[in-house]
Amino acid sequence: MILVLLGPPGAGKGTQAERLQETFSLVHVASGDLFRENLREQTELGILAQKYMDQGKLVPDDVTIGMVHARLEQPDSAKGVILDGFPRTIPQARGLNQMLDDTGRELDAVLHIAVPDEELLRRLSGRWICENCQTPYHDLSKPPQKAGVCDMCGGRLYQRDDDKPETVRARLKVYHEQTSPLIEFYRESGHLREVDGAGDIDAVWQALKESVQALES
Ligand SMILES: [Zn+2]
Repeated sequence: MILVLLGPPGAGKGTQAERLQETFSLVHVASGDLFRENLREQTELGILAQKYMDQGKLVPDDVTIGMVHARLEQPDSAKGVILDGFPRTIPQARGLNQMLDDTGRELDAVLHIAVPDEELLRRLSGRWICENCQTPYHDLSKPPQKAGVCDMCGGRLYQRDDDKPETVRARLKVYHEQTSPLIEFYRESGHLREVDGAGDIDAVWQALKESVQALES
């Protein structure tokens, strides 16, 4: 089974990928890990990617495609793969189709964990830290007893730039710009499966699991 997992930052994609990996005996191939491995092991592609990164340039699609290709050729991939963070662009999606065609394999589904932006904003911008003792808080999971004040020491709570609503909004905008063509691409090819990601981790997992089980039967 070959699956692609798509989802915005804050959708809990990593956790869900782990559960898919365990439940369906798939290999979780995360593009971030793949990059780090290639850089660490100084593979030909890793060295090439490093050159672009050192120049502050985007790593070209064919380098990324090459890394995924090499990973899919490793024996453990034969039992099935869940791709996470790849493809990110239409050329990468075409590259994936090509490499699967070449080896007589087929993409089973693209699972898209869809979460409304307002919910993502609540999850991603709810983080606060005490400027005095560094205790972390979260509006949803661990709110302070009094807004803006540390329970432990009474210090003032602040938000890191990364956690501020305007930063999160900008990140989500970039995500949508990058991903919507990909979602369209897979909708047209009939591979797209939308999963409601608005609920908690277990509810999303239930929906994902059913979606994959439907593929198996
Ligand atoms: Zn404190």
